[in-house]
Amino acid sequence: MLTLHSPISSLIRLKDQTKAGLAKLGITTISDLLYHFPSRYADISTYTSIAHLQEGQEATVRGRLTKLEAKKGWKSKMTMTQGVIEDVSGSMRIVWFNQPYLSNMLSVGQVVELTGKVSLYQNKPTLTNPSMRQEKIISIDTHDSLFSSQTSGESIDTGPLTPIYPETKGISSEWFHHTIMRALASIENIPDHIPPAVLKPYSLPTLKTALIWIHGPKSKDDAQKARKRFAFDEIFTINLARQKERNEIKEKTAYSVALDTVDIDSFVARFPFPLTSAQTKATTHVLEDLERDVPMSRLLEGDVGSGKTAVAAIATYATVMNRPFKKNSPAEKTHDKQTYGNLQVAYMAPTEILATQHFESFIEFFKHTGISIALITGSGARKFPTKVASSQTPWTTISKPQLKKWIANGEIPIVIGTHALIQKSLEFKHLTLAIIDEQHRFGLQQRKGLAKKDAHYPHLLSMTATPIPRTLALTVYGDLDLSVLDEMPVGRKRPQTQIIPETKREAVYEAIRAELGLGRQLYVICPRIDIPDPEKQKALQVTSVRAEAERLARDVFPEYSIGILHSKMPTKGNSSETKEGVMRDFAEKNIDILVATSVVEVGVNVPNATMMIIEGAERFGLSQLHQLRGRIMRSSHQPYCYLFAESNSPKTKDRLTYFIKAKNGFELAEYDLQLRGTGELTGRRQWGVSDIGMEALRNLQLVEAARQSATALLKSDPHLDMHPSLSNRVSAIQHLHFE
Ligand code: ADP
Ligand code: MG
Repeated sequence: MLTLHSPISSLIRLKDQTKAGLAKLGITTISDLLYHFPSRYADISTYTSIAHLQEGQEATVRGRLTKLEAKKGWKSKMTMTQGVIEDVSGSMRIVWFNQPYLSNMLSVGQVVELTGKVSLYQNKPTLTNPSMRQEKIISIDTHDSLFSSQTSGESIDTGPLTPIYPETKGISSEWFHHTIMRALASIENIPDHIPPAVLKPYSLPTLKTALIWIHGPKSKDDAQKARKRFAFDEIFTINLARQKERNEIKEKTAYSVALDTVDIDSFVARFPFPLTSAQTKATTHVLEDLERDVPMSRLLEGDVGSGKTAVAAIATYATVMNRPFKKNSPAEKTHDKQTYGNLQVAYMAPTEILATQHFESFIEFFKHTGISIALITGSGARKFPTKVASSQTPWTTISKPQLKKWIANGEIPIVIGTHALIQKSLEFKHLTLAIIDEQHRFGLQQRKGLAKKDAHYPHLLSMTATPIPRTLALTVYGDLDLSVLDEMPVGRKRPQTQIIPETKREAVYEAIRAELGLGRQLYVICPRIDIPDPEKQKALQVTSVRAEAERLARDVFPEYSIGILHSKMPTKGNSSETKEGVMRDFAEKNIDILVATSVVEVGVNVPNATMMIIEGAERFGLSQLHQLRGRIMRSSHQPYCYLFAESNSPKTKDRLTYFIKAKNGFELAEYDLQLRGTGELTGRRQWGVSDIGMEALRNLQLVEAARQSATALLKSDPHLDMHPSLSNRVSAIQHLHFE
């Protein structure tokens, strides 16, 4: 008998090509197939036939590309992609300016949908810089009452809609539709993992109904209700996972950090700056948490440059000035005092360069205390202070086995590192606090891994500069308490951000040349390319980064050294062929100009890089632009950010102006979410939330409902023993999110 877990081949005979296509999508079982949702529903009435186009009309045409070529304008040196699109009624010219990668992205014979304003060129209709169809989700309405139990009477019933599935090599949308309908007809039993009592208050359809409605909707209304159900389903499940985890952590014991014996004020007084009031507030939260023996789970959110490291340093200081005894337990107290070192802190950063930077700033913070600090990364280990008199640096290189021994016996209280910190062979004696910089998630498993044999669980301080909206934070960080650094240190130079028209390009290059002459450095960010196939997308990015670097080297800045950085490069290693190698060359100023994709956005500190050009700026989300710009705000020199846009529509201008004016990244993230949807959210793919789940995040009401439902269910069934299928989904999510 067919079940959800049966392989697709038990339903239908598969051609090799189809098999390969399915494998690529990770679809093997009938269940996988049923969860492959349409990206949209065709509504043929929205197309205009080419023969009927009028000058000045905003229109969408759908047809086949019959011609395509890339050219350079003879005077402007602007690249131009020209083509012809043809439908049954006729054909027309299309042209894109300044989007050289388009000719790689598209090919003759392909069917595309183009939207733009019709103009006349040599008396014939033309579309200039039309937008292309991006696979879009029907949005979950944010205005009507989300959970209304009645079908809204207003809905226009267009009759059966044709679902369109994401384009995949070797598998047509029709094949998906046909096979899925067949699967739905052949399977008797589709049990719902969500209890009816949870669905009912919100009038959400059961799983089986929702599957039928999403794949074969009779109306848009059905499709929308189905999508709501799946969106709710996902947010609800993530909430269960997070809350369950939170409850489990609360049952563990952590070392409590005594504050009355530690002179935190003097430690802070040595800083070369006074704390901002946001830093003081966040520090207070953290210290209060550390004082308790319930493990802290706190997220510190703050824009790049808001000073998270100082908060981390204070928490570290309070911790390592303590010894591992329990209060009110004199016997243990004496025993521990004789045998053991201090409480320990692990501080993890996503890259070797960042870990090294933290190591160096911690040496500054701690050098007067006599406390030892170690650095451990893929390429080796260091220890501060050094006993070697001749050493040029305040630290020495030591062997990893030696360092591990010292960490294991508790002699080194502060250990900074990359992922090398959570390897199996590394054991702490009294790990009390784990500080995690810019990791998207760090949960139960990782903490368990760090804690190892120790009966104590580490407190967790997770830090991030990734601006995300509140609904997403509530969901993916549902297990963490939040502190926000919403204030920048005083005296920081505001970047000068300008939207530059193409005619001023040369002038900007000259202004940059002057700054380069003063020894500053420049980032050039290439436009984002968004196409469904991630592999193709990466390949195009590489092409565009290379091309731009070559152009700059040849035509603009031949006197400077130019490097490139893109996501196809391996991450680790010293060579200039790796991301870390290139960043190091840039940091050491062997490279003056770095041409990069947006991979540069995750945290490196090159204070001397004070200029940034962002090409195709309107293609980025505002919060992503904000993060990119954060790279050049790390010095006392005036930073400059130049935005070039491919489109000069008023809408583009408005958005970019908003970017120039907004106060912080979180404000921009909210604006992005409401204005352009979740596609704009930074690092969206890293959250482990599907597109449909992400879409739900525009709806605070739905997110709150899912949260409350999860809390209520866990109250009556804390370990989900009574809901085994839900429990399975929750564990699957827990594993998925901790890569
Ligand atoms: P981030 O939040 O991006 O990790 P950092 O901790 O790296 O920021 O701090 C950025 C810079 O600001 C550092 O050079 C740091 O010394 C400095 N800084 C931190 N706090 C303050 C403050 N209160 N006043 C002035 N400068 C500060
Ligand atoms: Mg930082």
